[in-house]
Amino acid sequence: MNRLSILFLPTTVLLCTCAHELPIKKPAPDLRGWHQGVDWTRAGAEAARVLSGYLKVDTFNPPGNETRGARYLGSVLAREGIPYEIVEHAAGRGSLIARLKGSGKARPLCLLSHIDVATADASQWPAGKGPLSGTIDDEGMIWGRGALDMKGMGTLELMTLVWLKRKKVPLKRDVILLAVADEEVNNAGMKYVLSKHWGRIDCSHMLNEGGLGIRGVLFPDHTAFAISVAEKGVLWLRMVVRGKGGHGSTPLPGHTTPLLLEMLRKIQKRKPKPRMDASLEEFFARVGRQRGGMTGFVMQRARLLQGLLIKKLMAKPATRAALTNTVNITGLDTGGNEPNVVPTVASARLDCRLLPGETKESIVAELRGLVGHDPRVTFEVMHYELAAGSAWKNDPLFEALMHHTTRGRKDAAAGPVLSIGFTDSILARKKGVRAYGLVPFEVTQEEMQTMHGPRERVSVKNVENGLRILYTVVVEVAADLSQSPAR
Ligand SMILES: [Zn+2]
Repeated sequence: MNRLSILFLPTTVLLCTCAHELPIKKPAPDLRGWHQGVDWTRAGAEAARVLSGYLKVDTFNPPGNETRGARYLGSVLAREGIPYEIVEHAAGRGSLIARLKGSGKARPLCLLSHIDVATADASQWPAGKGPLSGTIDDEGMIWGRGALDMKGMGTLELMTLVWLKRKKVPLKRDVILLAVADEEVNNAGMKYVLSKHWGRIDCSHMLNEGGLGIRGVLFPDHTAFAISVAEKGVLWLRMVVRGKGGHGSTPLPGHTTPLLLEMLRKIQKRKPKPRMDASLEEFFARVGRQRGGMTGFVMQRARLLQGLLIKKLMAKPATRAALTNTVNITGLDTGGNEPNVVPTVASARLDCRLLPGETKESIVAELRGLVGHDPRVTFEVMHYELAAGSAWKNDPLFEALMHHTTRGRKDAAAGPVLSIGFTDSILARKKGVRAYGLVPFEVTQEEMQTMHGPRERVSVKNVENGLRILYTVVVEVAADLSQSPAR
């Protein structure tokens, strides 16, 4: 944002635009010392070793084999005397539930992760630092598929339980560790736990993946911790065109495959209207309040922000996806016909992601309008979930995440965001759970892009800081702060 562009704004816009109202910062509660007394350097090194071992366990999905990963987590819990059980939705597809009991003054807090990881092409990784290596190199990086997504967070959650137990922290609520199978493919692990074992979990709050601390995403010298409070909906469609088939030698008007392509071109030309979710408005306002200056002034005013920055935001694929309903053509099917045969049916797969408030009806109506209400086209729904979010204003878990990720730092801010992808949180929210997504690591954009790609890794320093942050957050929201540690 340059100063000149501000000067060219009509004064009326400046006059009628007031700053986004942010809650007054409340002082964080006194933790009575329960968060102290851990040597974080040693605890971080120990957690790094646990993560290294976890990364060596092959839980590529497909096929998953998550029971192996669950047993690995279970072996750490067993050493500490923390009870757990493994439940399988299919042979070898285990999810783990462990619990530290609280007094029951508040409903449980659930720390969620998934055990399975995306597949990886080992040939694309450096020698000795492969996807199943768990190598900790000389620069203090831990290598392997899942380091960021999300065995790293799973390890922080596991070690948080371990430290709560070791420090004998009195709890006002149960703290439940839930590590599920099959997040990457069908969410079958989470669906199974929700349908068969929810009675034993029934938490009011859940912490899961969804956001991260990203260095340099808004300003080069700044880290933004994006706490996911909502996820876009998903609508997978098959767009089927039934038309003229025939011999390939003579192109005819109405032949199915060219017709399908013509319609897809129309869909590609769609110009979706940008709409900023309330979470993102608050996110920018919080960063703006912290940055100050002219940029901060604009960031705290949604209307200015949208007027001045919307073009920039729409030019970047990730921010464009956060502001619009997206429709992505992800596959074509013409039924395996010979080169000289025009099929009578051809279809395309469309991955549509929906902003809060949108439905399959609204998207299909838009697509129908684009292809000209042609009776030869039908839309079949393959999968559908509405966007879902959790309230975050004045929520104790959300506030604790905000506070402990940025405490004492002038170069970091945190705030709520709408995620463009979905996680198991979208399912948990249907049970009325307040689910937030934040892995308390601080990564560069390059590191972030290694999730599902080659060279996925996380630093030992991140594991140490992340464990300290997560442990402190959990102490704040789950410890019985009416008691003090024995001196
Ligand atoms: Zn994940």
